[in-house]
Amino acid sequence: MTLADLADSWDLIVAGGGVTGAGVFQAAVAAGWRTLLLEQRDFAWGTSSRSSKLVHGGLRYLSQGRLDLMRDSVRERERMLRQAPGLVEPLDFLVPLYAHRPPQRWMMGAALTVYAGLAGRRAHHHHGRDGLLTLEPTLNPEGLRGGYRFTDAQTDDARLVLRLIFDARRAGGSALNYTRLTKVERHGDGRLAGVVARDVESGAERFLGTRVLINATGAWAEALHPCPDGRRLRPLRGSHLILPRRRLPLRFGVTFFHPDDRRAVFLLPWEETILVGTTDIDHLPELNQVVRTSAAEARYLLRILEAYFPHCAITARDCLATMAGVRPILTRGRRAPSREPRDHAVWRRDGVVTVTGGKLTTFRLLARDALRAARPWLPVPRKGSPGGSCAAGSMPVGLPEAIPPALRRRLQGRYGTAVEELTRAATAGDLETIPGTRTIWAEVRHAAAGEQVRHLDDLLLRRVRVGLQLPQGGSACLEAVERLCAPVSNWSPERWQTEKRRYLDLWQQAHALPGGLTG
Ligand SMILES: Cc1cc2nc3c(=O)[nH]c(=O)nc-3n(C[C@H](O)[C@H](O)[C@H](O)COP(=O)(O)OP(=O)(O)OC[C@H]3O[C@@H](n4cnc5c(N)ncnc54)[C@H](O)[C@@H]3O)c2cc1C
Repeated sequence: MTLADLADSWDLIVAGGGVTGAGVFQAAVAAGWRTLLLEQRDFAWGTSSRSSKLVHGGLRYLSQGRLDLMRDSVRERERMLRQAPGLVEPLDFLVPLYAHRPPQRWMMGAALTVYAGLAGRRAHHHHGRDGLLTLEPTLNPEGLRGGYRFTDAQTDDARLVLRLIFDARRAGGSALNYTRLTKVERHGDGRLAGVVARDVESGAERFLGTRVLINATGAWAEALHPCPDGRRLRPLRGSHLILPRRRLPLRFGVTFFHPDDRRAVFLLPWEETILVGTTDIDHLPELNQVVRTSAAEARYLLRILEAYFPHCAITARDCLATMAGVRPILTRGRRAPSREPRDHAVWRRDGVVTVTGGKLTTFRLLARDALRAARPWLPVPRKGSPGGSCAAGSMPVGLPEAIPPALRRRLQGRYGTAVEELTRAATAGDLETIPGTRTIWAEVRHAAAGEQVRHLDDLLLRRVRVGLQLPQGGSACLEAVERLCAPVSNWSPERWQTEKRRYLDLWQQAHALPGGLTG
């Protein structure tokens, strides 16, 4: 589908294909409104593919007195665990307690008691030193006093976005990537008339009529619709290092307090890798430039490994990749970045509703509030109330017996009803994993064939994540990817060459370790 194929007018247009826009899109289509989503780059290209991938209550909101935010987040976590197994999975965490280092035992114990209370179940345990080392032998034993274990949850952020978008597309919605909303057009009396959308590669432009525009463009939101009450979006960058799990074989997520500034930093098992993050600093470059991790951020994250895992002797050379994203933080003042509020906000004017801020975890609440704000301009929902379910949907059955249960669960969570299509086309070899990852080859081919891939980075960084999980962006498997996908893509051999060069160049800019660190 291209811009030219779209209907002339819509009930609702959503700008922004991150988790917020995807949540609005899914809920609006479920309500029966004729809905179109436009994303200026690729789906999940913005912050929503570069998060820590936690579906969590956010323990640190407690220190800010934000019990409401924590309660909402914990409820959403519980809902997503129930509704999207295979896509959102429990993740066990440890908080080791070291002599002469934060946190103190009583403080952590109290925080975890409140956290568990909000989820309505006891979910944490204290372990002595030996017990903790049995659970996680990689921990540094020196000065270790014991620690806590509790449970949160983890997802694949980009796949969550894609699942919402493709489910809604199958339910009748339309979604275009690489299409920027460039202008909001109003009638003489101020009512919304529609928007101008541009295919950013062909340059083709089109006016599209709509009753409502929901601006879900995250950190970019004020470019389309400035906040009217004096608050301003403050882009705060967060970066991660990605290590191979064999260099730091953690079974649990682990939280430490950084020796420099006592901020909580996570080490998170993510498939066959470990994510180390994150930083929290003002992001000064222009938002449409490639977001990258600075050398200072990489050093800050390496210091946590030196402080807590000195025996592993991890250096910059061990990093597979870096990943940086920009938080859309709405603020009046200029507090320390980590003390800025993580709430979401909604503002509206004559058919234009902006929703920004919030978290991946609370996307459903953002969608609900945005659609409530849009109700004065929308017709009566054709299929019941919106915002009732932004779940990843019901799980299909009927997969080949040859697929082992863990893989079955993963595929059902990520692809929903499309999983049957994915496995039907797969040969036995396609069900094997790409070495060093948990991705099977059939996922790559499925995405190339039917998931609106325009460029190789869409395929390797967001449809599957091997570009972040293998050395040098997975350069060693590019030939195999071409052989597998060429029959289902409409790219010529020359186009494949161009795409591979473009991808490796982009990977260097956005995901390579910053210069000077490996020398
Ligand atoms: C480092 C980091 C770690 C995080 N970790 C977590 C976590 O573990 N758990 C959690 O719950 N939250 C986490 N968050 C927060 C969470 O990732 C964000 O709140 C969320 O992804 C924001 O989603 P969004 O859709 O609002 O924005 P985005 O994902 O940025 O999407 C906005 C989209 O709008 C598009 N766009 C912009 N302008 C236009 C236009 N004119 N036309 C069309 N499209 C346009 C952009 O290209 C972009 O894709 C983290 C954030 C960061 C930065």
